[in-house]
Amino acid sequence: MAMTGKAYQKCINPDCATELDCASVTGGFKCPQCGSLLDVRYNWDKIETPDKLSDFAERWAARDNPLNFSGVWRFRNLLDFCDDKYKVTIGEGQTILQQNDAVAGYADMQPGRLYLQYEGLNPSGSFKDNGMAAAFSHAKMVGAKSSACASTGNTSASVALYAHSCGLKCTVFIGSGRIAFGKLSQAMDYAAQTIQIRGDFDDCMKQVQDVCIRLGLYLLNSLNPFRLEGQKTIMYRIIEQLGWRVPDWIVVPGGNLGNSSAFGKAFGELKALGLIERIPRMAIINATGADTLNDLVNNKKLVWNAGRVDQSIIDDYYADLTARNFSPHTCASAIEISRPVNLKKCLRAIDICDGVVRAVTDEEICDAKAVIGADGLGCEPASAATIAGLRHLRAEGVIAADQTVACVLTGHPLKDPNLTVNYHKEKQGQFSNPPIEAPNDLEEIIRLIQS
Ligand SMILES: *Cc1c(COP(=O)(O)O)cnc(C)c1O
Repeated sequence: MAMTGKAYQKCINPDCATELDCASVTGGFKCPQCGSLLDVRYNWDKIETPDKLSDFAERWAARDNPLNFSGVWRFRNLLDFCDDKYKVTIGEGQTILQQNDAVAGYADMQPGRLYLQYEGLNPSGSFKDNGMAAAFSHAKMVGAKSSACASTGNTSASVALYAHSCGLKCTVFIGSGRIAFGKLSQAMDYAAQTIQIRGDFDDCMKQVQDVCIRLGLYLLNSLNPFRLEGQKTIMYRIIEQLGWRVPDWIVVPGGNLGNSSAFGKAFGELKALGLIERIPRMAIINATGADTLNDLVNNKKLVWNAGRVDQSIIDDYYADLTARNFSPHTCASAIEISRPVNLKKCLRAIDICDGVVRAVTDEEICDAKAVIGADGLGCEPASAATIAGLRHLRAEGVIAADQTVACVLTGHPLKDPNLTVNYHKEKQGQFSNPPIEAPNDLEEIIRLIQS
């Protein structure tokens, strides 16, 4: 029986399909019947949706209203789960889509075809802010007082910033030793209670879910389906900046797989609403040291199968990881995850977008990052996996040189300064640009500049 309001939550398992209203937060955002992931669903006939996407352009002209200025809430009709009075914004989503021919050349794309979506321009420096604007609005709607998350770094920075801007307490869980310095500095500076667990991200993720249920904290990991609603708007902004046209391909790094899941849902909804004519294809890029999705999809042939995912393949895979005491390792700390919580939603997104998955090495990531820094606005390592992955897909001929490709650069270059400094100073890669040492002598300095 379908819920009658504008929006409701629904279990993604078709054999369960339990529905809950949006105010329900039982079970830490897992289906109380079967434990599967939940979706936010809409009764579109009760919602005022635009006739065409370009109608949203009118909102920008009225941006003295903070909800119109927000790159998330400007598209609020497409994520209409809460009243305006609960909506939280601190100016997220002021991103740019940069056409970049130099990076296009590196990726063997024709000029004019490659676009970089700079999500590092968000208030806390990563795309996570899109999700937090939506999730904290939901937290206010349900009257939450305290919040928590597990994080490889950016989630904690974003949660800390949003929690205090809307008057919630927050506790963030991070793994030991593996978090980039820029991100850790943010969590502390934004006054989050920061708990560093002796373990990796997957351990933190497990602990935080139990802690949230025991203490009634509001959970902000991407298990939270309201967060993913906010992340849909990254795709709306790419379409907006392409003159309300969809690209041929979206390329995104894959960690906990919240983004890829949200993007697939966004395109599925836009198509069903008749707001786009075709759905772009999607490439999800893992690091080779944390390539669960790549392995499951390309080697174990795991598929969405209309929601009836073969759970035994996943169970066997994770049992083997446990037996081998496997811990993921990549310099791209934001995607150093081996048990991605949104795996099934991501399989659905791959189904919707005719998606592909690839894995790239840390060396490829660092080189691509240096190219994006030298020729663009820079990004953190995980973001550069997109360009490294695009190079693979060009070499294989999966993506053609004249197709339009939008790569989502998920985080800001200052997030991980240590990696950048080491790459250049220690001459770790082909694009290293170390400082030149000079004596304190004018003639010698001039000679060095001209050499
Ligand atoms: C969180 C994060 C990712 C991973 O995104 P998922 O949605 O978890 O797949 C990638 N890059 C950066 C910079 C991140 O902060």
